[in-house]
Amino acid sequence: MSLLESTEDKPLSILYVDDDYEDFLLTEAMLQSHSRTDYEVEWVDTFENGIEKLKSLKPDACLVDYNLGEHTGIEFVQWAKEAGFEGPMILLTGRNDSDLDQRALAAGAVDYLEKNAVNPNLLARAIRYAVHRKHIERELSTLASSDHLTGLRNRASFDSELRRVTSSCLRTGKPFALLLLDIDHFKEANDTLGHQAGDALLIEVAARLSDCCRGGDIVSRWGGDEFAVIADSIGSALGAANLANRIVMSMNQPFDLGDQSIRTSASVGIVYCNEEMAARPELLSFADQALYRAKAAGRNGCAFFDEEMNKELRQRLFVKEELELAVNWNRLQFMGQPIVCAQDNRLCGIELLARLTAQNGENIPPDQFIAAAEDNEMIWAVTRAALACAGAWHSSAFGGQKGNGRISINLSPKQICRSDAAPIILDLVEQSGVKAEWLDLEITENGIMADIERTRETLTILKEAGLTISLDDFGAGQTSLSYLAQLPIDRLKIDRSFVRKVMTSTEAQAISESVVALANRLGIETLAEGVESAEEADFFRNAGCAVLQGYFIGRPAYMELPEPVAANA
Ligand code: C2E
Ligand code: CA
Ligand code: CA
Repeated sequence: MSLLESTEDKPLSILYVDDDYEDFLLTEAMLQSHSRTDYEVEWVDTFENGIEKLKSLKPDACLVDYNLGEHTGIEFVQWAKEAGFEGPMILLTGRNDSDLDQRALAAGAVDYLEKNAVNPNLLARAIRYAVHRKHIERELSTLASSDHLTGLRNRASFDSELRRVTSSCLRTGKPFALLLLDIDHFKEANDTLGHQAGDALLIEVAARLSDCCRGGDIVSRWGGDEFAVIADSIGSALGAANLANRIVMSMNQPFDLGDQSIRTSASVGIVYCNEEMAARPELLSFADQALYRAKAAGRNGCAFFDEEMNKELRQRLFVKEELELAVNWNRLQFMGQPIVCAQDNRLCGIELLARLTAQNGENIPPDQFIAAAEDNEMIWAVTRAALACAGAWHSSAFGGQKGNGRISINLSPKQICRSDAAPIILDLVEQSGVKAEWLDLEITENGIMADIERTRETLTILKEAGLTISLDDFGAGQTSLSYLAQLPIDRLKIDRSFVRKVMTSTEAQAISESVVALANRLGIETLAEGVESAEEADFFRNAGCAVLQGYFIGRPAYMELPEPVAANA
């Protein structure tokens, strides 16, 4: 089937942009009188409407009048090109002007017709040829830019995309990641399996690579077993590492090649490009060095070009593994830090703080493993582990005086902002066997402000079940107290960075005093966090703060001395 025939099968949709309605009727009549092709002609009368319509209709071709009020048809053609419209555009004009003809073509129109010289056959032919030519142009450019084996982009097309993405990064500052992938020991596999199976393997690798990436990412095969990706929807080095890890894991799955199943692995080099990086001409060689590093580290993994990022990546992987082990073997521990009433120093609460000791004895800071846990669903396992020991903490601290104190559990923003947060949390509480009345949940303002309505619903359900809610780290973020007051919060924990300033800044004193006073008036209890001295404790007590917490009151401690590791083994 020729391209010409294929375009004649179905009606051609035409967008007609002209401020003159009579000209439209005339043109439409001309096209309808042409019996060989069906046309669906849409008319718009202004430049702006034309732009809108072009986006929504995506017509097969566009006819544009030169006179469009304040704009010209040439401007329209230029705009449409820049906006990515790839269909043919034909400029119509009332005057005979050879200069206009040149300018129309230079702007990107495929043809130029004089309205008064046009007849049905001429118009139909111009449209048909234009559509046909565009079709061929597109096929040719796909052919020229793709790898014939896998259908991915080829090296030449990748290079031009890389130029486009780097210059866009330099202009907008939007970072991107460049990944280089190479199948480990591909040559040996290709030699033993035979070239046909080798090709089948490459095709499957290409498909998996595309599956790991997002729609807008540029995936290409450079030849042999070398592949490259430009991911410009990635906002951080961590995001790039996650993508690379996804790719490495996907290549670890067995490949079914007809009658045999084989296993292989891949190494990935990563360059995370911010503006500064994008300005460097050696970008591709950096990616090469990163790939080399991944291979040198034992293959089947990824590495950054940047040594700092590499260290971070290794540390993250280490932390993630240790956290997984600790969760699976119930080795995650919790320290309790006392919370006391400011007036009489009576113990009224205990905050549980997670502790992770690596197999090598190293203590991993909570900020690190909590961030790793937030990356996936493991954060819920941390909450489950906290709840599992909350009962014991409660009976050891408040056993004799029912209802006199609560155990505070920290939740991450990622957990509380889920739409199903309330049922998940209540389910975990129920499974733990701990009474809701013994518990307090600490949440932070990030994550809850994105959808305040939903947060209100979540918190209301949790409170109805008997839990109390504390807002952690208040003062570290930007949100104002009056805004937060829209939420059903029981307690405000004034961040320790703020508490620290009070002794040296009269401004911080004034702000603290008014925050405490305002919260009290709203019926919200206030707690000063990280109180390290008698002076700080006095200041907040006098300001009207109900509860205090910090090293001065008591450091976090284990409930009992942890059993020696050897005794567990
Ligand atoms: P946070 O909730 O603000 O916890 C208070 C942190 O301040 C704790 O650090 C505590 O040890 C420390 N701290 C308490 N009093 C003082 C003081 O007087 N001076 C100073 N300099 N520090 C004090 P830690 O244990 O390192 O925890 C850090 C963060 O990790 C916590 O901040 C919390 O956001 C998170 N975290 C800890 N355990 C969990 C958990 O089970 N789940 C979740 N989602 N996050 C947790
Ligand atoms: Ca906390
Ligand atoms: Ca805090």
